[in-house]
Amino acid sequence: MIAENVTNFQSRLRLACNRAGRSGDDVTLVAVSKTFGAEAVRGAFSAGLADLGENYVQELTTKRAQLADLPLRWHFIGRLQTNKVRALVDFIHLVHSVDSFRLAAEIDKRAGSIGRTIDVLIEVHTTDEPTKSGVPPGEVRELVKRISSLSSVRVQGLMTMGPFSDDPDDSRPSFRTLARLAREIEGEGIEGVSMKKLSMGMTHDFEIAVEEGATILRIGTAIFGERKKKQGVHV
Ligand SMILES: *Cc1c(COP(=O)(O)O)cnc(C)c1O
Repeated sequence: MIAENVTNFQSRLRLACNRAGRSGDDVTLVAVSKTFGAEAVRGAFSAGLADLGENYVQELTTKRAQLADLPLRWHFIGRLQTNKVRALVDFIHLVHSVDSFRLAAEIDKRAGSIGRTIDVLIEVHTTDEPTKSGVPPGEVRELVKRISSLSSVRVQGLMTMGPFSDDPDDSRPSFRTLARLAREIEGEGIEGVSMKKLSMGMTHDFEIAVEEGATILRIGTAIFGERKKKQGVHV
């Protein structure tokens, strides 16, 4: 079933890229495996996906241990507490959800102590919903500047989530805001900072994200199926 889901998703993605006049070569698909077990991840890997996303540290480290035989790239996409950074620092490929200097400084300290440099995205709060995490758009530039002084953390771009809505078009303003911010910050030429990665778009709104310039899509449901309801829409 997962192989079929991946094939179907990839044809939708190809169509979306065509409509947007994009080749798709610069779009990375991160398969969000939260709540699904190691066997599901094996299915995704067999279908050609090697980038996996998780939003709980414990769940991620357990699954990773069960999948140590596969060359997977793990992405952290959830709220990250500073006291959990240590558990991720020796292997994490990209942290999508940095939303404070304090968190960046902790990643820097832990990464520096083992001689790694960790790529991060700044999570931006682009809706007016009070519950979402992320930095307000007006504070992103200052935060990026401060983080750019850290030697073991490298800002590679921005991440956001669209609003809770059944209508994918409702996500467009969020995605536009993210793309515009990235262009503005890129234009400042802050040393050591890149704005090339735009992590935006989930199962219900990835086509809009592609139109608005996403380079990383975080896709769970379309690949693994529906999650158990108690987890909520975005969890
Ligand atoms: C769960 C989750 C996703 C994937 O959501 P789907 O709608 O299942 O594709 C993407 N991003 C984040 C931050 C998530 O928590």
